[in-house]
Amino acid sequence: MLQCLSAKRYSSIKLLINVWNCECLYKNIRNIHNVGLEDIPKITVTNIRKILRQKGFAVQDGFTSLISKCTLCSGEEKTSGSKIYINKATGYFLCPKCNIHGNWNILERLLKKTKGEAFIKEIRETSHKDFEKVQNDWQGVVNETISLSKLNETEMLDLCRLFEYPYHPETNKILADVRISPDHTILYFPLKNTLDNIVGYRKVQAGKEDESEHYGLHTAGLYSCKAPKVGRSDQAILVPTIQDVLYLAGHKVPGTLIWLTNCSLPPIVLPVLENYQKLCLWGDWDNMRAVAEKLGEDRCRFVRPTDGLVTATEAAIANLSLKTLVSEAKPAAHRSITTFAAIRDDVYAELTNIEKMKGIKWRRFPALTRLLGGHRRGELTVLTGPTGCGKTTLCAEMSLDLAQQGVNTLWGSFEIRNSRLARTMLQQFAGIPLEQNLQDFQKYADDFQKLPIYYLAFHGQQPIKIVMEAVEHARYMHDIAHVVIDNVQFMLGLADERDGDRYQRQDAVIAAFRTFATARHCHVTLVMHPRKERESEDLSTSSIFGSAKASQEADNVLIVQDKRLTAVRGKKYLQVAKNRYSGDLGIVPLDFDKDSLSYQPKKKNKAKQDEPDKLLNQCFEEFSVKESNYVSDFENKPYKQKEQKHRDVTSNGNSYLSDILHLNRTR
Ligand SMILES: [Zn+2]
Repeated sequence: MLQCLSAKRYSSIKLLINVWNCECLYKNIRNIHNVGLEDIPKITVTNIRKILRQKGFAVQDGFTSLISKCTLCSGEEKTSGSKIYINKATGYFLCPKCNIHGNWNILERLLKKTKGEAFIKEIRETSHKDFEKVQNDWQGVVNETISLSKLNETEMLDLCRLFEYPYHPETNKILADVRISPDHTILYFPLKNTLDNIVGYRKVQAGKEDESEHYGLHTAGLYSCKAPKVGRSDQAILVPTIQDVLYLAGHKVPGTLIWLTNCSLPPIVLPVLENYQKLCLWGDWDNMRAVAEKLGEDRCRFVRPTDGLVTATEAAIANLSLKTLVSEAKPAAHRSITTFAAIRDDVYAELTNIEKMKGIKWRRFPALTRLLGGHRRGELTVLTGPTGCGKTTLCAEMSLDLAQQGVNTLWGSFEIRNSRLARTMLQQFAGIPLEQNLQDFQKYADDFQKLPIYYLAFHGQQPIKIVMEAVEHARYMHDIAHVVIDNVQFMLGLADERDGDRYQRQDAVIAAFRTFATARHCHVTLVMHPRKERESEDLSTSSIFGSAKASQEADNVLIVQDKRLTAVRGKKYLQVAKNRYSGDLGIVPLDFDKDSLSYQPKKKNKAKQDEPDKLLNQCFEEFSVKESNYVSDFENKPYKQKEQKHRDVTSNGNSYLSDILHLNRTR
């Protein structure tokens, strides 16, 4: 009896601990990137201009900012450099001289003098302190490191080998302002603002190049350098890697060479580029298009991919003249009415880059990649399926897969709370049941938090205007490439309206996202409920709730078919019911794994020893898969093959599903 009781008590204590731990889990996950209502700027560029003029300030209309005089530092230091930059889209302001910065409402208060001297003094002092701290931090780095210009040829060669940089006799001159740790394993790249002041630095450790860390002000700058002994040029060339910068410098390409990590461009660094009349963008084409839009397309030109060579590094390895390619860069902007002559370069680039134009490939869903080609910007996908079939879980995994490959994603979860969604994605990310592995929680959460996933911080019914404003703002601030709305019916609210009105409102939402996807070069995935239909019938494109607009406007229609509900041995699968890109239709089997909340195909069982023929066939099959993988790897990344291991895992799924897919095509 006693024994029984204590056992019971023990289990209830254990339960308590579990509940407590789970709460911890939720609290930790809540600490994620949110985009809230208060983040949406409520000011227009016209109003900013008006207020500045009313107060008697001269306003210069820049590419991305309005430029005026900084009243805070121009008083004490009578120099011409005291300019204040006000972002046209957000109203965020910054003076690179006195480092005063903040949201528009602060500047407005300063201008209107609604707050007293104390307020101004406080702001001025904090800005000054921040600036001093960063300068002291950099001085600390300088004291403990040496300049690359002090390294001799052998040391420089070793360094280039270690960091996989291209070697050039003048590399140490090009990177003269970069510092290196005494053991030659850590590099510190200074980040400069408009006035060439150092406002932060980027730390790159050998072997961990992908995880470079940034330090400094929110008013961070950019790393830039120039090729030695070349003529002056008023243009800047923006590239995604330091390797690109070094190749361009080695080829003596004139202009300022700017390292734009992963093609991402936070709006706070836009003033640094304000002085360049000409910008040349060279990198992943899709991402660079979004960057150009932010910079002002009229001053941007693209180096378009030639013969599958996307980056300056790839072109340099293929012995092409980088100088010629830069001088032949074509304007980014097209007029609203265009001729074939104007777009023939785009058409040629698309034809010579078929593989890359297909988009980013799902690693977890190779069969889906085969059907759709990949995930492309500028498209609209509609995902539907019966209630409770796991649309959200599947959609979470598909978007996680892409985010792990660097696709900046914005989730609008209107049905379930963000913390629950993040928990699902974290478990899919970890691949294990988290509540049974709490000791590893911090490790997984730390890595998960580094993924470029953002969440709209509101759910339940929302007016489409506010949702679109938040989505627009997030795209501008965080370079969003994929927006997920789960789901459209919850966003609209399930109000008691006649069907006609609801259809009309839903059509307006679809139209708004269609326009957004095309105009902003962003992929939008809309999760939608189907119409109520008899359970025995298959869902089709016409089963989506509402009018036919959803399936007409969508580039891709994906339907989760759940045959487990109607047939004893029924299976669940994802049907590609519309595919505007290639027209290939078919199905992808979905096999749910409860532990990892994952739908990715299970690894094939090892063939048994007593079936030599099968084993032999399998060997051939795997051999051929590896061969083709090697070729595609080589094309994608001629100088890095880190992802080889991961692709081998997915290729198992390829052969596993090929039979089913083949059946689909020939049917
Ligand atoms: Zn100032």
